[in-house]
Amino acid sequence: MGRRIRHFRLQRGLRLAQLGTAAGRSASGMSAFENGHRVPTLAQIGAIAAALGISPRLLLEPAPPSPRDALEIEWERVQRDTAWLARGLPRLKTTRTTPTAVLEALVGLARELAQARSERVATPEEARRANAALRLEMRQHDDYFPELEEVAAELVELAGHDPAEPMSPADLANLASKLGFELRFVNDLPQTTRSVLDTKRRRLYLPLRAGSMSGSQRPAILQAFGSHVLGHGEPSDYMGFLRQRVEANYLAGAVLAPLSAAVPLLGGAKARHQLSIEDFRDAFAVSYEMAAHRFVNLATRHLNIRVHFAKVHSSGVIHKSYENDGVLFPTDPLGATEGQFMCRYWAGRNVFDAACGGSQRYVQLTTTPNGTYWVTAHLKQTRDGLFSVSTGCRAEDAKWFLDGDSQIRLRSDCPDRSCCQVPPAALADEWSGWAWPSARPHSSVLAAMPAGAFPGVDLTDVYEFLERQPN
Ligand SMILES: [Zn+2]
Repeated sequence: MGRRIRHFRLQRGLRLAQLGTAAGRSASGMSAFENGHRVPTLAQIGAIAAALGISPRLLLEPAPPSPRDALEIEWERVQRDTAWLARGLPRLKTTRTTPTAVLEALVGLARELAQARSERVATPEEARRANAALRLEMRQHDDYFPELEEVAAELVELAGHDPAEPMSPADLANLASKLGFELRFVNDLPQTTRSVLDTKRRRLYLPLRAGSMSGSQRPAILQAFGSHVLGHGEPSDYMGFLRQRVEANYLAGAVLAPLSAAVPLLGGAKARHQLSIEDFRDAFAVSYEMAAHRFVNLATRHLNIRVHFAKVHSSGVIHKSYENDGVLFPTDPLGATEGQFMCRYWAGRNVFDAACGGSQRYVQLTTTPNGTYWVTAHLKQTRDGLFSVSTGCRAEDAKWFLDGDSQIRLRSDCPDRSCCQVPPAALADEWSGWAWPSARPHSSVLAAMPAGAFPGVDLTDVYEFLERQPN
């Protein structure tokens, strides 16, 4: 308000004392108002406005009266910000003689600093915090999101796809055209991307591979359209990025195994005590991992079974996990499970040693300090190595599953470190102090996420790619 008083006073060529006299204040009193050291009462605002010959409303408007005032106000706010004060920089008080160019440079610098600060969210620590927070949020909803189910049902209908049948290439092409997009398969997609959606020319670019449309790319296509349909913008932080990825994944699963067909199928299998991730996978022709995810989405709310899920690298490091059945995943001090070692005696680790082929079913009963769990696990070869995907529940719910009993029964005392996190005493006596291993750089879950709107994506590559596409 002080700025507005000064603005109108100078506009009228009045000095402080002149306006003061007209408004019944001293010059120093007027100066205190203009500098924001004192706030005028409503009666005083009325008197000042009358002296200036304007409506009091003009003095009460919150917008800065001029671009120059806006800069001065922003600079003052910057210098009052705690993050700025913490830097211990000398205070710079601007006057009317401070050049506007100097102010613009200072304010620009402060904005850049604030931007750099917010981009630093994608450190390993922030990534872990975000992962932990998101897992908690998912557990609170039993990993089931009705609003995403509704969007999925609309997409299924739009595609003209029979929910009980696996989604065909024709359904997908139909969905793309209904959404106003063209699918283009190219062999020079930027390395850091799985797909690029061009909303200007309405195209979805995907890598050209043998059998491009025959299934393996369906999730990538649906995730891209999912983000578009859900109105995902550029995420402002790592948590936002993670949430968008989870939502797009969820939506893809919900389109490929629609609620209306998946729930009756699973309900029937449960009634016959023949629930099986493999059968569920085959019914909708999706990957085992996607079938396991989708099963977990529906298990608690629709089948009344509490479950857990984990994706573990052959090194034993957990890449993804979810649980609402009380199973105790190892966590770091921030509450994240990603990057932690799964217990050596759990199914998600043992399945690597069990040397079973990709299609064979591995089941195990594990007694832990928190109860006994039945778990089924499956191996998955990816570009990043061999992974296990395991899904489990409390032993009392195992009866609903095919192979609900198992000969493989193991005991795990984790999180007690003596279980498997430290070497057995005999080995330690022999080798403690004699072995100097050199660690391999940690897996991507622990690496610092590159900063930027789309973590891990080289945007220059993406823009250059779009530039060179023919019209
Ligand atoms: Zn253990």
